[in-house]
Amino acid sequence: SLSKAAFGVKFDGQQQQQHHGTAAAAAEPAAKRPKNGLPVESVRRELLYLVESHATVVVVGETGCGKTTQIPRFLHEAGWTADGYQVVCTQPRRVAAVSIAQRVADEMGVAVGTTVGYGVRFEDASNQATTRIKYVTDGLLLREMMDDPLLTKYSVIMVDEAHERSLATDTLLGLLKKVQRRRPDLRLVISSATLEVDRLVAFFDSSTVRGKAAAAAAAGGGGAPSRTPAVVSIPGRVYPVQVHYLLDNCSDYVQAAVQTVVDIHREDVPGDVLVFLTGQEEVESAVRMLDEEARRLARSRLQYKLMAAPMYAGLPGAQQRLALEPAARGVRKVVVATNIAETSLTIEGIVYVVDCCFVKQRAYNPIVGLESLLVAPTSKASCMQRAGRAGRVRPGHAFRLCTEESWQQLLPKASVPEMQRSDLAGLLLQLKALGIDNIMRFDWLAPPPAEAAVRGLELLHALGALDGDAKLTPSTGTLLAELPLEPQLGAALLAAATRFGCCQELLTLAGMLSVPAVWASPAAVGGKRALEEAKAKFAAAEGDLVAFLNVHRAWLEHGKSHRWSSRNGIHQHGMLRAAEVSQQLCRKLKRMGLDTNSSCEGDVDKVLKAVTAGLFMNAAQFDHTEYDPRASSDAGSNVYRLLRHMQPGRPLKLRIHASSVLARTRPQLLLFLRCQQNDEGWYEMQAVTAVEPDWLTELAPGVFQKL
Ligand code: ADP
Ligand code: MG
Repeated sequence: SLSKAAFGVKFDGQQQQQHHGTAAAAAEPAAKRPKNGLPVESVRRELLYLVESHATVVVVGETGCGKTTQIPRFLHEAGWTADGYQVVCTQPRRVAAVSIAQRVADEMGVAVGTTVGYGVRFEDASNQATTRIKYVTDGLLLREMMDDPLLTKYSVIMVDEAHERSLATDTLLGLLKKVQRRRPDLRLVISSATLEVDRLVAFFDSSTVRGKAAAAAAAGGGGAPSRTPAVVSIPGRVYPVQVHYLLDNCSDYVQAAVQTVVDIHREDVPGDVLVFLTGQEEVESAVRMLDEEARRLARSRLQYKLMAAPMYAGLPGAQQRLALEPAARGVRKVVVATNIAETSLTIEGIVYVVDCCFVKQRAYNPIVGLESLLVAPTSKASCMQRAGRAGRVRPGHAFRLCTEESWQQLLPKASVPEMQRSDLAGLLLQLKALGIDNIMRFDWLAPPPAEAAVRGLELLHALGALDGDAKLTPSTGTLLAELPLEPQLGAALLAAATRFGCCQELLTLAGMLSVPAVWASPAAVGGKRALEEAKAKFAAAEGDLVAFLNVHRAWLEHGKSHRWSSRNGIHQHGMLRAAEVSQQLCRKLKRMGLDTNSSCEGDVDKVLKAVTAGLFMNAAQFDHTEYDPRASSDAGSNVYRLLRHMQPGRPLKLRIHASSVLARTRPQLLLFLRCQQNDEGWYEMQAVTAVEPDWLTELAPGVFQKL
C-alpha cells in the first residue's frame, strides 16, 4: 500500500474506504457489464421505451457509464432522427461538446460534421442536411431558440450534466418546459447526478400542476406521452477509492501536487494519474515541473516513464488528444487538468487522483454588480466526483491536498448554482428577446437572486437596450440580443459601427477578447520575464486594447506567420481563432444591415470612445488616498476604486492585474473588461484601457454626472 511518510508530502496513514455510486454497484464491480460494452447498454431497451412513452426521462448513472456518447446514438438508431429530425445533446462546457462529438464520430466511423456534428459559440461543425446527432453547448441551444423558439428541428433534446446547474442549463430547463407544452412530439432526456434527480422530476412533473385531466388523458393512451417524468438508473461499474488527506496543510498546492505525483510514480505500480488544479497557468506550470521530474526520473531504474499532459479549456485540439488518448506501453500518463475533467470528459485508465480541492469559478458581487473569477475551495460533492475518476479501472486512490479537518470544515457540501453567482445581464437580454418579459415570474428550476436580476436590468438600461417599460429597444436592444457577445462588449461593437466609425477595429478586438488567449503562455516563451519583454514590444500607453490592435496589425504585416508568432510571444492558435470570430461577427453585423467597413485609420481615440460606450460601468479611478510614493511597484500605489461606487462604506479593492501592459503606469481613470479576485480579496482588473473623464460623462450621462 502507499505510504507517503518517506517523501516530501505527508498523507495520513489511515485510508478511508469510500464507495462511489450505490453500495450494490461497488460490491460487484464489473458484474453487470454487458459483454460488448458500457453499462448504459444494459438499459437501452428500457430507456428507448420510456422515451417513447414519456415526455421527459431523467437518466442517472456514474460518470463514464456511457450516457453522453451512447444515448444520442441509441435514439438515432431507434428512428428518432427520421424525417430530417436531429437529436441534440447539450453540454455546459465547450471542450466537452467538441471532444465528445469527435469521440462519437470516431465510434461510428464517420467524420465530424457529417452524421455527427457539434456547435459551440463561433464554431459550427454540423450540416443541416446530413447531421443527425449534434453536441452543442447549453448556451448555443439558448441562442438557437432566438431563431427557432420551438426548436423544431429536434425530436429529442438531451440536457446533459444538469446537476452542474450551469447558468444556461438552468435557464434552458425552464424554457424547454414551456416548449414541451406546445410540442407534444418533443422528448427531453435529462442526465443528472443523483443529487438533483428529485428536483428535476418535480420540476417537469406537469401531471400534478396542470390538472389531473391532462394526466388521465395521457395515461389513457391516444399516443400522447405521459407528463410524469420517468427515471432510469444505470447500474454502476465502480471500484472503491481510498481517500488520503495531508497531515499538514500545504502552502503551495501546485508544488504539493507535483510532489505527490512523483511519490506515486516512485511506487512503480501501473496506473495513470489525474491531477485537478484550478486554471491554465497552474496546469502549465505543473506540467513544466513534471517534465523536469520526468527527465530526472528517467535515470532511475523505474519500469514506467512519466509523461505529463495538460487539459484545460483553451487547449488546442491536437494537444487535448494527448490527454484523452491512452498512453503508450510503459508510460505513466499524468493528466493535469482543470475541473473540466471532473465529469464531462472521460479519461481512460486513471487509478490515482490528486485533488487540490480548489476550483476557479464565477463570483458575483450584487451590491456593485461586478462579476469576477475567483479561486475558492470546491465543494465536497465535486471532490467526490473527482475522487470517483480513480475507480473506473480497478480500485484506486485519491489524494486530497489538505488535511481532513480542513476538508470537513472549509468545503461546502454542494456547489452554489451558477445562477446565484453570475452577472445576469446577458441572460436577461436573451430572455427578453424570447418574449419572457417578467423574468421574476418565469418558471425557473431555481430563481435567480432578485438583487442580481435588478442589477442586470440596470445595466441593460444604461446600455440603452431596454426602454422605460423594460422592453427591448429596437435600435440597440434587439441588435444586442442577437450578438453572441457579453452585452457590454456587444454595445461597444455596435457603437463602433454606428457612431464612431471604427467597426473594423472593434471587430478585431471583440475577436481577440472572445478567445481564451492571444498571448503565448509563459511556458511557451521561456518564462514570465520573457513574456513581459515580448509584450513590451506591442505595449501602448492607452492600455491592453490598443496593444491588442498593435499585435493584430503586426501579425497581419507578417502574413499571419506561425514562426513570427512563436518568436514574439503570440499564441498563433488564439490569433487564428480570433480572426475567425471577427469574421463571424462581421457577417452578423452585415445581416443586421450595419456598415462594417469603417476604420479609424489610427485615430485610437475613436476606438477608446466606442469601448467607453460599452464598458463605462467598469470604470475605475486611481485612489490618491492610498498613494504611497515609496511603495514598490506591486504594493500600495496600485489601488483603484470603482467609479460608480464612490460612496463610503467598504469599497472594493481594485488593482491592475500584473498581466496588463498598464501594470506599471497606473492611469488616473481606466476601464476594464474582466476581473479576477486573488486570495487576498483584491479584484485584479484585466484587459485595461485608459480613458478620459469627459468621455464617461458624454457617453453615459445617465450614470456619471460631471466628474
Ligand atoms: P458518461 O457520459 O456516462 O460519463 P461517456 O459517454 O462520456 O460517459 O463515456 C463512456 C465511455 O466511453 C467511457 O467510459 C470511455 O470508456 C469511453 N470514452 C469516452 N470518451 C472517450 C475519449 N475521448 N477517448 C477514449 N475513450 C472515451
Ligand atoms: Mg457524460
